[in-house]
Amino acid sequence: HVKHNGKNSFAFYHRKMKDVMNEKIEIEMILREALKKNAFKLLYQPQIDLNSGKIHSFEALLRLKDHSLRPDQFIPVAEETNLIISIGRWVAKAAIEQFVDWRNKGLGEKTIAINYSNKQLRDRDFIIYLTQLVKLNNINPELIEIEITESFLLENNSETMAFLHGLKEEGFRIALDDFGTGYSSLNYLTYIPVDKVKLDKTINDKFLNLANNRVMDSLISLAHSLKLEITAEGIEEWDQYLQLKQGGCDYIQGYLFSKPVEANAAEKLFDHPFIMLNE
Ligand code: C2E
Ligand code: MG
Ligand code: MG
Ligand code: MG
Repeated sequence: HVKHNGKNSFAFYHRKMKDVMNEKIEIEMILREALKKNAFKLLYQPQIDLNSGKIHSFEALLRLKDHSLRPDQFIPVAEETNLIISIGRWVAKAAIEQFVDWRNKGLGEKTIAINYSNKQLRDRDFIIYLTQLVKLNNINPELIEIEITESFLLENNSETMAFLHGLKEEGFRIALDDFGTGYSSLNYLTYIPVDKVKLDKTINDKFLNLANNRVMDSLISLAHSLKLEITAEGIEEWDQYLQLKQGGCDYIQGYLFSKPVEANAAEKLFDHPFIMLNE
């Protein structure tokens, strides 16, 4: 906060701005290095099927091997610098290789969810790239779920729609991530080709309590009326889980069941029954 005018506050402000800029440049360098040296990795967080009590899918979440920077810190820089295009391809490839590795080990096939950034639209051949990867590895594309966010839809233009329809034509699944945090409009849910909505943690925290539980039940019914599956994200409390199960939610994801974990740890969770069905 700059309350006073004058030299000192200007110097302070100036220094702050320089810090922010330096930080961005530093992160950009870290990202470039990581691409060159293959120093990214993916963690996997399960989404639990509330009907079977088993893992339905894993969301791939990007990390840097040698830095504690969080995606919320480095993804925006990757987007600003267009590095997200190479990084996005790396993520897709790594996630698919992991899928194949698990299949080869006889663990079976679980859906893998991959986050897709709006800025990746600049990558004109992303769908071709992804399609080649699944064909080469003989993967059913329905087991690959692309997560887009509401802000992607705000850019609502022919390119966005063409991208989504392109994914569907190739058989991929689409999830709408962070639902409820942006300028949610029911309208677009009726015409965009999504398969699933992922309710954001902030929405779940607000509406998963006794006073508000009818709101959550309505959200679930609404999704189902629109023929959409629904995942509740960021579930940390047992009571939230109980309420979601009662309300007919399809999947949950959150620390209550598992944090995002390394691939070799995810492997051990594969057929782990998380939930007693008749509690
Ligand atoms: P997201 O896609 O909404 O992913 C969910 C985030 O919530 C993850 O944070 C996950 O670790 C966190 N989370 C899951 N369960 C809980 C919980 O019970 N409590 C709390 N407090 N948090 C929980 P993460 O891994 O830090 O990722 C943050 C965001 O960065 C992601 O949000 C996604 O938008 C972006 N991101 C991550 N990986 C990638 C990627 O490969 N590509 C792109 N484009 N974006 C990515
Ligand atoms: Mg996501
Ligand atoms: Mg989310
Ligand atoms: Mg997010």
